[in-house]
Amino acid sequence: MGVSEAQESVVRITVLGKSPSWQDADGACSGYLIEDEEFALLLDCGNGVFSKLRRYRDYTALDAVVISHLHSDHFLDLVPFSYALTYAPRQQPVPVDRWPGTDSPAHPRLIAPKGARDTFRRVVGSWGNDDLIEAAFDLTEYETGEKLELGPLTVRFEEVPHFTTTHAVDVTSSNGSGRFTYGADCRPGDELVEAAHDTDLLIIEATLPRPERTGIRGHMTPAEAGEHARRAGARRVVLTHISDELDELWAREQATTAFGGPVEIAHEGAVYTV
Ligand SMILES: [Zn+2]
Ligand SMILES: [Zn+2]
Repeated sequence: MGVSEAQESVVRITVLGKSPSWQDADGACSGYLIEDEEFALLLDCGNGVFSKLRRYRDYTALDAVVISHLHSDHFLDLVPFSYALTYAPRQQPVPVDRWPGTDSPAHPRLIAPKGARDTFRRVVGSWGNDDLIEAAFDLTEYETGEKLELGPLTVRFEEVPHFTTTHAVDVTSSNGSGRFTYGADCRPGDELVEAAHDTDLLIIEATLPRPERTGIRGHMTPAEAGEHARRAGARRVVLTHISDELDELWAREQATTAFGGPVEIAHEGAVYTV
């Protein structure tokens, strides 16, 4: 084997937020920045994510936002993001000589589940212009099972069982790097195992200290997450959607035992590559 001539292409996944539906101290709910060379995609945009995104990337240099499901902890920061795209001085249509670079304000794509337009209108319409989000972004609603080409990335949406219509998001790149699967929020079942079959990196929720005591299940424990990752044959596993109020060492041990190999816990700012 010779010396490699070019650096291997990778997709970088940066954890912007990994909290469940309430934020960790100083934390953010679900948000993952996915970068493939110059292309950048934000996967979920829960409360707190917009300010975390700004540490890593200019929000006007984001190509697309993808939303896994319409729960607040996965989309609420589309509101401040939309205000920025609408009212930030450099986004205003003022003469270019006064604000260099303002000749074409950013208008990123927003790809959200069917019904998103109505949900966003109801949320924002409760106090302001109901078209705030759809005017700030170029909104497309996707269908379950759909596969989209976004720059160099191919993104596939597979439904997983949760309290509302929810999609695992599977990402591959034309640059030949590995595959990454985000399980979104999910109760135990075969759906995620199939969606994540043979993936290189599975980011999977581990929300619960124990299974829900009553009602319909919607989330997993760390042991269940590890067991689903094992059944999927995932090569690398990261637990997410996990509170700082849950014992991390306990969670990792539970998941590692069920997975049969090392499992990592998502931390804000952690970078994974495939
Ligand atoms: Zn959630
Ligand atoms: Zn949810």
